[in-house]
Amino acid sequence: MDWKTIYQLVYKVKSRWVFMFKYCFLSTVIILITACSNDGIYFENSYLIENISIIHPIEEVENQMTLVISENKIINQFKTNQVKVSQKNVIYDGYEKYIMPGLWDAHIHFAYETDLANAMPDLFLAHGVTSLRDTGGEIDFVNSFKQKSLENPKTTPRVKIAGPLVDGNYNVYDGSSPNYPELSIRTVNVIDLKKQVQILIDKNVDFLKAYEMLSPAQFEAIAEIAKENNLKLTGHIPLSMSVIDASNLGLNSIEHLRNIELSMSTHSDRFLKERKEILENKTQIKGSQLRRTLHKKQRFKSIYSLDSTKIKEIVSVLAKNNTWQIPTLRLYKNYVYQKYKDSSYTSYFKMLPKNKKEEWISEIKEIPRNLNVDLKNYSDWTQIMVKYMNLNGIKFMAGTDVPIGYLLPGLSLHQELIELNNSGLSRREVIQSATINPAKYFNMNDSLGKVKTGYIADLVILNNNPLENIENTLSINAVIKDGKYLGRKYLDSLLYHNKDDQYFPKLIGE
Ligand SMILES: [Zn+2]
Repeated sequence: MDWKTIYQLVYKVKSRWVFMFKYCFLSTVIILITACSNDGIYFENSYLIENISIIHPIEEVENQMTLVISENKIINQFKTNQVKVSQKNVIYDGYEKYIMPGLWDAHIHFAYETDLANAMPDLFLAHGVTSLRDTGGEIDFVNSFKQKSLENPKTTPRVKIAGPLVDGNYNVYDGSSPNYPELSIRTVNVIDLKKQVQILIDKNVDFLKAYEMLSPAQFEAIAEIAKENNLKLTGHIPLSMSVIDASNLGLNSIEHLRNIELSMSTHSDRFLKERKEILENKTQIKGSQLRRTLHKKQRFKSIYSLDSTKIKEIVSVLAKNNTWQIPTLRLYKNYVYQKYKDSSYTSYFKMLPKNKKEEWISEIKEIPRNLNVDLKNYSDWTQIMVKYMNLNGIKFMAGTDVPIGYLLPGLSLHQELIELNNSGLSRREVIQSATINPAKYFNMNDSLGKVKTGYIADLVILNNNPLENIENTLSINAVIKDGKYLGRKYLDSLLYHNKDDQYFPKLIGE
């Protein structure tokens, strides 16, 4: 042993004792319940995860860390080899494992298939999704899921709700067919909109969602109400408006990049004029049909006539106004490549309730195999646009639109993370899009979205490093929800009714 090694050893022991002394002293003063003895520190009413690598959304990885979790919070963290802890503590070994903040799916609909809704929270949780942003559904229905999560925070993902889509006189989701369930409210004019949005605010919605059939005056009114009530306003760009006008009026985020392309075309002015005329709806067709007519007429034409000057201008306005994007890339791809027709995909349907599984399988059989080239080009455009927006500093949130398009609760979020990575976000940026960004969106970034002392313990423990390969977000070893440790066995019990079914950490056929 040379002098350097001896010095290091002595120094290490010394610094450990100094740390222990300081730590015990402080603990005695601040936390009386913490006991120090020769056995090391005992944390009452807590458990520890030792030797784990912390994946921070923003800062660098910290290796060989111990986290102390008590009640629903992270109450302490330190280098595992620097503090002697009592073996009486409840200790989980995190050796060669990774811990990161719990994931968000920032675009879901409990109300799209009401007979699937009750099964959704468990499927999310089993996939490490500890928080949800419901982007449209009947207020009392979605509120019931929010209330359930508030009553059972340790076994249910947190739910943030918009209530229904706030739409115009010819609302799209009016309950007229299974493809258009009643996800929206019809508002006939500005006064009516104000009255109906106030009802949502009285029911404590967490944000508002503006929809495509709103008039510019109605949109301006909802943007005003959102600001007055300190709520975020998300939505699709109303077909009667340009992206820049909507963003300048205070649209905080855009779902699916919807209708952005219409403003990026060389013909954008002519298109807007044409849309306004058609929106007068002289033949009084249904809102869903009216929207379909407009999309059919202009969406693909727009991406075939893109104007680079307009793209630059729009993206710089969105960046300046801090208008975030939830691009739902996987949803588009699912439609283009009909991934739901692959047996590797339908094999995941064993997670679904039996009736839903049978219903989806029989529906899917009826869908003919074909490749819609326009839709493929549109999907490719969304990926290029995400890359360009990201390079220009626009922020993203990972969201799926589950259960639309046969997307599976929980699993589809991981698929979206892969698509965001494929579209130019770094692995770290992808992680941010599903952790700290949504926390920030809801002004919760002081308590959620980081692995940090004092923060809510909504966490995911992984077997493999997601910063090396984003698919590793699926290698879930355990989930911690509101401080409660949910091991793999428990998570499997949420996924499968058949004991022989095993968890599949890899996405097949991607
Ligand atoms: Zn949606």
